[in-house]
Amino acid sequence: MNSPLEYAHGHGNYEYVPVPAFDDNYIWVVSDGRHAVAVDPGDAAPVRAYLAKRGWRLVAILLTHHHADHVGGVADLLNGQAVPVYGPAGEALGALDPFVTRVKGGDRVHLDAPALDLTVLDVPGHTRGHIAYFQAADPAGTPHLFCGDTLFACGCGRLFEGTPAQMLESLDALAALPGATQVHCAHEYTLSNIRFALACDPGNAALRAWSRDAAALRERGVPTLPTTIAHERAVNPFLRADDPAVQATLADQLHETVPDRLAAFTLMREWKNRFR
Ligand SMILES: [Zn+2]
Repeated sequence: MNSPLEYAHGHGNYEYVPVPAFDDNYIWVVSDGRHAVAVDPGDAAPVRAYLAKRGWRLVAILLTHHHADHVGGVADLLNGQAVPVYGPAGEALGALDPFVTRVKGGDRVHLDAPALDLTVLDVPGHTRGHIAYFQAADPAGTPHLFCGDTLFACGCGRLFEGTPAQMLESLDALAALPGATQVHCAHEYTLSNIRFALACDPGNAALRAWSRDAAALRERGVPTLPTTIAHERAVNPFLRADDPAVQATLADQLHETVPDRLAAFTLMREWKNRFR
C-alpha cells in the first residue's frame, strides 16, 4: 500500500498517456508518476521505451480482447517479471493463458499503485468476449473508460464475432456511463470515422465543428483522444441510431426502410464496412 503522503503526492500526477504503436494503435499507459499500467500492449517496444523515458515501472497489464494488436507484446513485457495481467474470461489467449487473471462483467480489479478501482463491463460485438474497464473516479474525481475496439471516437468496432444486437447493447451500456467519462479508445481512427459520420448525420452542427477541430489536431500530430461519453452521444452516429434525422438519411442513402434503431444500427455498420 502507498502511505497517505505518497497517495497525496499522486493526486496531481495521474497521467493517462496514449503510446502510439503500429500504424494507428494507442496503448494507454496510466501512471501515478512512478508505477504504470499498460492497456492492450500489442507491441512491447514502444511501451518499454516510453516507460524508460519517464522512469515508470510496469506493475500491471489490462487486456480487453484477444486480437494480436492488443495482446502481442504481453509476453515480451512480462519476460519473467511477476506482473499481474487481467483479461477477458470468455476468450482464449493462447500462450498467455497461464499468466492471465480472468475477469468478466461485474468483476472489480483493484490496484494499489497507481491506485485504480476498475469495474469490468462485458461489451461483446467486436469479439465475443470483449470486455471494458471503467474507473468511476480518478484521484481528481474524473471517470475513465478503457474500451478497446468497442467504442471509437465517432465510430465503433467492426463486428468480427458478435451480432449487431450485441454491439448495440454494448454501446448502450457505454453510452449510459457519466458524460464526463474520459474514453480511451485503442485506435486513432477519428478522421475517417468523422467522414462516415458526416454522411450519416450531415445536419449535426456539433459533428461539423468536431470535424474541423479533429482535423486541426491531426495536422499538428496530436491525438484526438481521449474523447468523452457526452461528446460521443452528440457526434457518434453509432450512439445515435434512434435519431430521426440519422434514420431518415440512412433510408434515403441506402434505399431501405428503417423500422427501428437496431435496423438503423445494422444498416449503418454494414455501410461503414464498405464506405470509402
Ligand atoms: Zn480488435
